[in-house]
Amino acid sequence: MRTWAAGVLGLVPLALAMAPVRAAWVDRTEAIMGTRVYVQLWADDPEKGNAAITAVMDEMRRLDNLMSHYKPDSQLSQINQGAAAGPVQVDPELFDLIKLSTHFSEITEGAFDITYASVGYLYNYPLHVRPTEEQIRTALPAVNWRNLEFDATHHTIRFGRPGMRIDLGGIAKGYAVDRGVAILKARGIQHALVTAGGDSRLLGDHRGRPWLVSIAHPDDPHNPEKVVTRIPLSDAAVSTSGDYERYFDEDGVRYHHIIDPHTGHPANKVRSATVIGPTATQTDGLSKTAFVLGPEKALEIINRMPDFDAVFVTPTGRLLYSKGLRPPAPRPPGAPPPDKPPAAH
Ligand code: ADP
Ligand code: MG
Repeated sequence: MRTWAAGVLGLVPLALAMAPVRAAWVDRTEAIMGTRVYVQLWADDPEKGNAAITAVMDEMRRLDNLMSHYKPDSQLSQINQGAAAGPVQVDPELFDLIKLSTHFSEITEGAFDITYASVGYLYNYPLHVRPTEEQIRTALPAVNWRNLEFDATHHTIRFGRPGMRIDLGGIAKGYAVDRGVAILKARGIQHALVTAGGDSRLLGDHRGRPWLVSIAHPDDPHNPEKVVTRIPLSDAAVSTSGDYERYFDEDGVRYHHIIDPHTGHPANKVRSATVIGPTATQTDGLSKTAFVLGPEKALEIINRMPDFDAVFVTPTGRLLYSKGLRPPAPRPPGAPPPDKPPAAH
């Protein structure tokens, strides 16, 4: 009897240890890269899930330390301080992202241009500061991605003109999100959402259903009841840029953080642009295009890219969709029924 009792008592801790850990959604929000970083994932073991989230947050902090133009010690700041005088050597990772940025300049006809910062630094949105026309005229000649000089052997970057500056605020968050997803995948996570600012990526689906991505209303961006549309997505990246993110209004004009590299003024051809595609680095690099080139030109570019879609909100509140998101055209009269294959010749 005693033996039995002892046996049962002895079994209790063992039984506890063997109790299945309960799979669950775990999530966390942190402030990194000057923005809100959010990770949500499905974890068979919530403790491991939380450790995976910590690894993603650590990676985002590492990238911020490397690429922030606000941090005077970052390699990005070292480029801005030294590259007009001579080549500045940087980590291959930063070199590659800067090089990739010029690819997005190329395919967006210069709408995306990290050298926009040569004039962009003259704006301070929280302090309602904007440059005078004279200041813009003086700074603008330094804005041109073609004046970035790359040495791929030594990983150096040099500015071909004085007065140049670069800022990766338009692509680094997308890159950080992709790195976050790579870390989660390597840890065996199959369902996750990683968001940094306007850039998100969905790993897998929401366990049997697609994730539902809401596009904020530019006039009421924090109201979940007033979104412009909701799009079901799985295994995709989505970036939204909006004129409501960092801005100030003056005399009825909105001065916001997406700058037209050709004029040095905020780019106002749309109020919000959402791009969907395979990776967040790509969707981030493309989500500024419509602001600068206008929605029609931006749709032309997106519609030529097979894996990409877009939704734009125009200044008058119209919604424009890329080909892949439009409902199919109505069937012309006399067309064969949809399930009947065309007659063989
Ligand atoms: P978020 O930071 O919320 O993801 P966006 O993806 O819309 O926002 O990026 C806006 C940022 O892009 C700006 O804060 C600035 O750092 C940078 N930027 C602004 N204009 C341009 C431009 N024409 N080309 C490249 N980057 C830009
Ligand atoms: Mg972005």
